[in-house]
Amino acid sequence: MLSETTYHRPNSLDQACNLLSENPDAILLSGCQSLGLLSKEGIVSLDTIIDLNRISELREISYKNGSLYIGALATHRDIETSQTVQTHLPLLSTAAKQIADVQIRNAGTIGGTCAYADPTADYPPVLMATNATVHSRSTTESFEYSTRDSFFVDYYESAIGPEEIITSITIPVSKDAGFGFEKLAYRKNDRAIVNVATILETKKGMCTRSDICVAGVWDTPLIANEAMNSLLGTQLTDDDLSRASEMSQEEILVCDDPLISVEYRSAMVGVLTKKALKTARGDLS
Ligand SMILES: Cc1cc2nc3c(=O)[nH]c(=O)nc-3n(C[C@H](O)[C@H](O)[C@H](O)COP(=O)(O)OP(=O)(O)OC[C@H]3O[C@@H](n4cnc5c(N)ncnc54)[C@H](O)[C@@H]3O)c2cc1C
Repeated sequence: MLSETTYHRPNSLDQACNLLSENPDAILLSGCQSLGLLSKEGIVSLDTIIDLNRISELREISYKNGSLYIGALATHRDIETSQTVQTHLPLLSTAAKQIADVQIRNAGTIGGTCAYADPTADYPPVLMATNATVHSRSTTESFEYSTRDSFFVDYYESAIGPEEIITSITIPVSKDAGFGFEKLAYRKNDRAIVNVATILETKKGMCTRSDICVAGVWDTPLIANEAMNSLLGTQLTDDDLSRASEMSQEEILVCDDPLISVEYRSAMVGVLTKKALKTARGDLS
């Protein structure tokens, strides 16, 4: 027998926070792309739903003072096609374009993706590489989480508390950076076996910034610290990129699964890191 669902559709963030505080077991609904699957599998029960889709303030995409502001309800398609994102952080639109198919991109949101914390998702490595901040709210407080340090806690677990609603993501952007994003999946636009986001910057031909984040391989996305440090001060020659890719392959932990061996996944970390670094180098003006 189908159970009854209480369905709330607040018009404002304040209303949504109050509803969540009054109904601690309620499920927040954004694009319903992951929730749909979870409820079909019986993993979540949708007895009380708070649908966030009428809260238009959560849809904003803008650029202010060197930072990109993405509202939690911005869909993957909004992000993929936004001129603002393409101009200031093409890395994010590239990642958005690789999510599933256009139907899912039309509905799925960046806020839902962050909350769900799927380790194979495509935004998390970009958000960690760029040092993005996730913002959330409860009835009484506002919270900020560094994606680099504290947001992605464990397998499908983010740092947000049960009374919090993700409101936006802010991302510092640099006009001098070059970007790379690579994804290996079973089929085009499927979930990642490995995905890698890279950022490079140079001054007078020397590397002054290098960020490498790898996902799809472990419970959370991982930063390749040693590989990143190895590039600083170099001229980003092919040898420099090869050495960094080998280091990334060595330092990034990878999981085993029945279909993909540790050896293969690990080798792909090296291959994709190198490709993404080459793309980022080619992207430098
Ligand atoms: C067939 C398929 C293929 C996919 N392929 C990919 C892929 O290749 N790459 C990729 O990155 N993703 C992929 N996804 C996931 C997709 O990107 C989802 O859109 C995303 O994971 C969840 O976003 P959503 O807006 O649909 O969230 P929902 O399904 O609505 O919610 C997901 C979870 O987040 C919570 N939540 C939602 N919004 C908020 C909020 N603002 N604050 C706090 N909690 C919130 C919900 O309560 C729920 O627990 C795929 C999904 C499907 C169904």
